[in-house]
Amino acid sequence: MATLLITHPCFVDHDTGSGHPERAERMRAIDMVLAHDVFKDLRREEAPLRDDVEAAIKRAHTAAYLEKLRAIATGPINGTRHLDPDTVISAGSWEAALRAVGAGLHGVDAVMSGRAANAFCQVRPPGHHAESERAMGFCLFSNAAIAGFYARAKHGAERIAVADFDVHHGNGTQEIFWSDKDLFYGSTHQMPLFPGTGAVSEAGVGNIFNAPLRAGDGGERFRAAFESRILPALHDFGPDLLLISAGFDAHKADPLANLELVEADFMWATERLADMAKRHCHGRIVSLLEGGYDLTALARSVAVHVKTLMDVGA
Ligand SMILES: [Zn+2]
Repeated sequence: MATLLITHPCFVDHDTGSGHPERAERMRAIDMVLAHDVFKDLRREEAPLRDDVEAAIKRAHTAAYLEKLRAIATGPINGTRHLDPDTVISAGSWEAALRAVGAGLHGVDAVMSGRAANAFCQVRPPGHHAESERAMGFCLFSNAAIAGFYARAKHGAERIAVADFDVHHGNGTQEIFWSDKDLFYGSTHQMPLFPGTGAVSEAGVGNIFNAPLRAGDGGERFRAAFESRILPALHDFGPDLLLISAGFDAHKADPLANLELVEADFMWATERLADMAKRHCHGRIVSLLEGGYDLTALARSVAVHVKTLMDVGA
């Protein structure tokens, strides 16, 4: 079965202004690497603008937040507009945000129906910092959480897991999943670092598993955290669908953080997660792009992640 790549040209129209790390060139860098012959067997589909996208968003965010963001994002914007010091939108952001959510829904449909082995959503804006009632950290909607709720509502998946190896803690996913024991959130991240959350003691109702790492930690410590904390908890949880918040800013070349991972570490993590998905949920994985701000490291890391998804799904 194929691996699905879901993306859309409009993701470059989400303009965050000059000098912003979460920029359109990230999509172009990934496009270039995924154009290589190695990826010819990827099934490529467009991230849809779906009629049910707002209903899906409202499973994870308040209606008041959706309406507030819609009013700002579809109103007149002269160039760019800051929602907070980090989070910037432009005239193209609303469609991009809805299609980024739509990519996750489309991936869930394909993977849950058995039409694809697994899926990678090459999207922006990213999602894991967006909370139920606020945009934050370059993120507008919680793409992964929304995909998880959708899988429960439409495909009968009961237990949903999000594994997050972005270098930042996914405070938004954690907040949205906090009090539901059938939703799992497991994260490795640098700490202290933005957004400041992600301590081991933040455990929800026993469904949140944080594995903070220190600046300077490399692949060895990352793998140890994964093997001692994230994977055993994920195994005990036993997901019906595994979502990955796939950020690549823990790479040693990334300008926003100080972990020392290399491409091989992302391949290893992808393999371990795929192994877990095989054991519990027929290999069903929907992976969603989060961060990664050094263009070369991002492109290379996405390449090994997607190639690994293809290899395990074949
Ligand atoms: Zn990040």
